[in-house]
Amino acid sequence: MDISVIIPLYNEAESLPELEQWIARVMADNGFSYEILFINDGSTDDSWDVIRRLAESNPAVKGVSFRRNYGKSPALNTGFVRAQGDVVITMDADLQDSPDEIPALYDMIKNEGYDLVSGWKQKRYDPLSKTIPTKLFNATARRVSGIKNLHDFNCGLKAYRNKVVKHIEVYGDMHRYIPYLAKNAGFTRIGEKVVHHQARKYGKTKFGLDRFVNGYLDLATLWFTNKFGVKPMHFFGLLGSLMFILGFVAAAAVGIIKLYHMHTGQSYSLVTDSPYFYISLVMMILGTQLFLTGFLGELIVRNSPRRNDYEIEEELRTEKR
Ligand code: UDP
Ligand code: MG
Repeated sequence: MDISVIIPLYNEAESLPELEQWIARVMADNGFSYEILFINDGSTDDSWDVIRRLAESNPAVKGVSFRRNYGKSPALNTGFVRAQGDVVITMDADLQDSPDEIPALYDMIKNEGYDLVSGWKQKRYDPLSKTIPTKLFNATARRVSGIKNLHDFNCGLKAYRNKVVKHIEVYGDMHRYIPYLAKNAGFTRIGEKVVHHQARKYGKTKFGLDRFVNGYLDLATLWFTNKFGVKPMHFFGLLGSLMFILGFVAAAAVGIIKLYHMHTGQSYSLVTDSPYFYISLVMMILGTQLFLTGFLGELIVRNSPRRNDYEIEEELRTEKR
């Protein structure tokens, strides 16, 4: 199979028939064999009914339906583990991304050797309240990830070599950093293609301003994990131990000096006379705290259940592979 199109969706019933027809037309015009994986992320409208109806007339339509809303990342991941196409394309369901981009994206993966090609909505049709923070966010993501040629990390329209989607796990809200995840997994041929963007035709955006707060926290998590692996002890433990040792040595030094003074007959109290003694005590306590924080992180990481484990209500012509 040439192409899998993965479409995560949450309450997008009005857009789906138009989107499916458009994709089918592009595929037919170019002679691609394909599948469309609709991942219904717990929609409360009749999106899933619409998908089942579309599947009756088009055998390439497949889908998975979550029992409740889990988010865009889990939806994408669910598509990733099921995708059969040589090239995997992800696309938003709201008709903001154009299926007409598919042939060029396919070509970049298939013939130009890219592992991942990310769309760049150079001209966006979104409100300023969204485009300005997005610019800032992308600048940070570029710096932190070291992927300097990307302008639009979070573009929903992306293409992947099949191998890439089988090797990365997208969880939480990490869909914003898929190029970074891919890079960390060793897929370094990451390209970009300017894509057309349209204003949302039906419904409204599913993400509020909290997307930026979450976005930065996720970036910090990803950076940390990339630097220290899943071993918070290596960071906090080392810092904590160092502080504790320093504090201990300082306290001992203050103690010895004081004892020496006492020996020479001066009168004073170790506890009330020396601010240095207090500082070293605080360092020892902080060091212990940091060490325990690292240990706590370690426990959480080691005891976490599998991250991508969702309640699936129904599968339509799909299976994990
Ligand atoms: N989406 C989803 N689960 C969610 C939120 C969004 O599957 O919890 C889908 C949504 O239906 C759309 C895509 O993710 O297909 C992008 O969402 P949206 O268009 O709201 O984001 P924006 O274009 O405003 O960035
Ligand atoms: Mg949208």
